[in-house]
Amino acid sequence: MANNPHVIILGAGPAGLSAASQLVRRTKFQVTVLERNGWVGGNAASFDLAGMRVDYGSHRLHPSCDPNILADIRAMLGDDLLDRPRHGRIRLRGRWIHFPLKPIDLALRLPPGFTLGVATDMAVRVVPRSDDLGGSETFASVMEKGLGHTICRDFYFPYARKLWGLDPGELSAVQARRRVSGGSLAKIVRKVLSEMSGRKTQGSGRFFYPLSGFGGISEAYYMDALDKRANFYLNAVAESLHIGEEGGFSVYYEREGRHHTLQADHVWSTIPINVLAGMMQPSPPAEVIDAAGNIDFRAMLLVYLVLDMGKFSEYDAHYFPEETIKISRLSEPKNYSGVRQPEDRTVLCAELPCSPDSPEWSKSDEELGDLVRDSLATAGIPLDATVLQVYVRRLRYAYPIYTRGYEESFDKLDEWIGHIPHLLTFGRQGLFAHDNTHHAIYMAYCAVDCFNEDGVFDREGWGRYRKIFETHVVED
Ligand SMILES: Cc1cc2nc3c(=O)[nH]c(=O)nc-3n(C[C@H](O)[C@H](O)[C@H](O)COP(=O)(O)OP(=O)(O)OC[C@H]3O[C@@H](n4cnc5c(N)ncnc54)[C@H](O)[C@@H]3O)c2cc1C
Repeated sequence: MANNPHVIILGAGPAGLSAASQLVRRTKFQVTVLERNGWVGGNAASFDLAGMRVDYGSHRLHPSCDPNILADIRAMLGDDLLDRPRHGRIRLRGRWIHFPLKPIDLALRLPPGFTLGVATDMAVRVVPRSDDLGGSETFASVMEKGLGHTICRDFYFPYARKLWGLDPGELSAVQARRRVSGGSLAKIVRKVLSEMSGRKTQGSGRFFYPLSGFGGISEAYYMDALDKRANFYLNAVAESLHIGEEGGFSVYYEREGRHHTLQADHVWSTIPINVLAGMMQPSPPAEVIDAAGNIDFRAMLLVYLVLDMGKFSEYDAHYFPEETIKISRLSEPKNYSGVRQPEDRTVLCAELPCSPDSPEWSKSDEELGDLVRDSLATAGIPLDATVLQVYVRRLRYAYPIYTRGYEESFDKLDEWIGHIPHLLTFGRQGLFAHDNTHHAIYMAYCAVDCFNEDGVFDREGWGRYRKIFETHVVED
């Protein structure tokens, strides 16, 4: 191994960028990052549209972020890291409920049938209906057991069908256990009560947000890593990864139509784990290739509408569980930062989860603009403004899909990759984890922490950190 080992990081999303920044800060390693886009930030990036900064759908930094990471982000962003109140709403059976939930609002606005249903669910011990599933637990059975039938029927189940494109009974129980915050009625009640005056927990109902858009977090890590001489190749698509006979790797990538190779002592991948498996040379055994084929991600269309009005609504986000409304969420970027300029325009961003094989994926911008317009009209918030522009971005890898039984395929893939010395996979795509940004950054910090002073990677330590990652619960 060289004196100054070379680490190549695949992907410049929050995980790859924070790994690069921490490696150049805490080690003497050479660091090179390959990113397929011409910009950094991955799914958590921001960009300019019609003179405004917009994100890839609704993004906020949750106060549950690890304190050391939050301190680093604060140190990099200073006063540009805003502390903002959450102000969203959910459409439930035709009514709007404030999100995060507020006791008074719940009392006054919840549909009576819904309230009665939840009360009955609380009184009666709910027996999960798993008889048709051979007795094994699923997202549906765990959620019904914890939250009761009413909340599941009216909120979680239709929302799950939209987000993952599967019936709740076809989703793994992992989705419910590890990926839904407030997974029991008792937790929800505690959360609502904590909203009452004097009982709020720190950070409750608030979020952090960079003045320059959520992507400001990634950009700060990028600038920090660049400043400390990490190398970045943007528009560089990693194509294959050859394991050398004496350790180390040859990384082949394509950039602007040309093919290049780099030598690495370590490769840290934050790209989708199934894509990584497909680019390994020598190729994995057939059963690992099969396992990679059983892992899939939900895609998402982000439809941005530029309106000729200063503000569409006071809300940062509107959530739409109902299946009659195609989009899952609508956000108004201006309301995240509180910036009012430009006074005469605003942008809305509609999230439309879908499959890349679906007709939606290949619709034109205008058709998608019409779809959003129809969705808003159905939701009772029609667009009463001129749409100056429709702009669409496509995320191929938005959400991991935890189909029942996916664990076996993931474990096979993970185990095979785990046996290749000096290769590490992490981040939301790399560990197939439905995680928040601060979780992806936490993984990167932990990876760097596993290098000892002699540049030896502590695999056992990484194994311990992996157990911690399994406790992460995603927040909306
Ligand atoms: C709609 C939506 C809303 C979200 N809201 C929130 C929120 O409010 N708060 C929050 O904390 N998190 C939120 N998230 C999650 C957040 O976006 C992710 O946690 C975060 O982006 C994960 O970072 P990552 O670096 O692990 O992966 P990514 O951001 O996906 O980065 C992976 C990078 O790898 C690159 N790449 C892929 N293949 C190759 C290749 N072959 N060669 C080179 N580069 C490659 C990609 O271009 C990408 O830049 C949201 C996600 C979505 C989809």
